[in-house]
Amino acid sequence: MTKKPSLRFHLGTLLNPLSDGVCESIRNGVLVVDSRTGKIRGIHSLEEAHRRYGKTMSGRSVIDHGPALLIPGFFDLHFHWVQDEVREMPKASLLTWLKNYTFPTEMRFADPAYSKDRAKAFFQKLRNSGTQGGAIYSSIHETAIRSAFREVKGHFVMGNVLMNMESPPELTVGEEDSLRLVKRLLKRYGVRYALTPRFAITTTPRVMKEGAKWADAARAFKQTHLSETPGEIEFVLSQYRKIPGFEKVRSYTEIYHKCGMLGSRSIMGHGIHLSSEELRLLSRTRTSIAHCPTSNAPVKDLGLGSGLFDFRRTERAGVRWALGSDIGGGPFLSMFDVMESFVRQNRKAGVKAATRVKALYRATLAGAEILGLGRITGNFKVGKEANFMVVPVSEQVLAGRNAEEILERLHAGVKRRSDYDSLVASAWIKGRCGSRARSPDPAEA
Ligand SMILES: [Zn+2]
Repeated sequence: MTKKPSLRFHLGTLLNPLSDGVCESIRNGVLVVDSRTGKIRGIHSLEEAHRRYGKTMSGRSVIDHGPALLIPGFFDLHFHWVQDEVREMPKASLLTWLKNYTFPTEMRFADPAYSKDRAKAFFQKLRNSGTQGGAIYSSIHETAIRSAFREVKGHFVMGNVLMNMESPPELTVGEEDSLRLVKRLLKRYGVRYALTPRFAITTTPRVMKEGAKWADAARAFKQTHLSETPGEIEFVLSQYRKIPGFEKVRSYTEIYHKCGMLGSRSIMGHGIHLSSEELRLLSRTRTSIAHCPTSNAPVKDLGLGSGLFDFRRTERAGVRWALGSDIGGGPFLSMFDVMESFVRQNRKAGVKAATRVKALYRATLAGAEILGLGRITGNFKVGKEANFMVVPVSEQVLAGRNAEEILERLHAGVKRRSDYDSLVASAWIKGRCGSRARSPDPAEA
């Protein structure tokens, strides 16, 4: 048996998101990966790589992906892995969809065998779609989150949803049991655990407050839903104003603030309907928003019709944000579908700043930065982990003059939204192929 080469040369067209406005594209590029460390050793044009590496770059060390795009792995900053089955169910309104489809589905995750099977299938599917990091909601059950942590690969934080009130009896957990479980999971998973009150409606202030204290002490993340629909906001405020200490509360965001839920390691799902005062509070506490355009989209587009997130206003207020799929509120796993929805809905509303380059940045590096991983992953840079996906494309797509045009052409070639889930031919985590059954890496064979 011959020795495995330590450098691996991935040939393809590299798309490298750097910011909202800039994405490098390197046609006939080479991503050089050190297979011992799983990190990026170089980013070059083909000629430059030949000059620099000479004979080292030959034989089994070269992986020619053909006409394909090499794109950093996606970060999906908000999704529910236990809602895979309800993604395409009728969504007349948020609260009825939860009651009719989501809650009954989540109840099934009390069964360890079911959780195990679903976790195995779901996380393989997720890897195949190119998502390699993000923030996950599990069900209330310990067995479900443990199965998920066993199967998930990449940079994810995850929490069991905390539900102590206004929930179906099968999904209601007592405060003491909730807190005991938070403590146990924080101890077991450390910073990979995220304190996850489902939303203020279902989680008591005591559980949020106590849990937030422990999460902060462990430097773990906190996540929940905020201001997704007007009906939800009205209900939250009417409920909380009956709770001692919250009688005078002015906004939904203030409720979370009082419960210790805001901060630099906090991610609020949606945040569509926020007052200027609330945005200021999020900015001041360095809280981030996960924007989920496919979930917020009109019902005819398989969303919940929650409204269009105003990213310009959010940015002007200095609030950090990144994209999320919100599976099952969002109908498809692929962040390509999420990016496309972001661009389309904003274009329809006449917002030109919603470019495809911006969408790619918000689906990769921006998410990594919010999770505190911007120095480790999120795009192509020497020294960062070699986390990327390979997307085969036609020569016509590659003929685009810049990243914006290449992405535009890529999207134009996709006929059905469900096709986005199968755009990715292989996904690589720390330089190793982790997506398909058969690795295209000749040195692994
Ligand atoms: Zn959600």
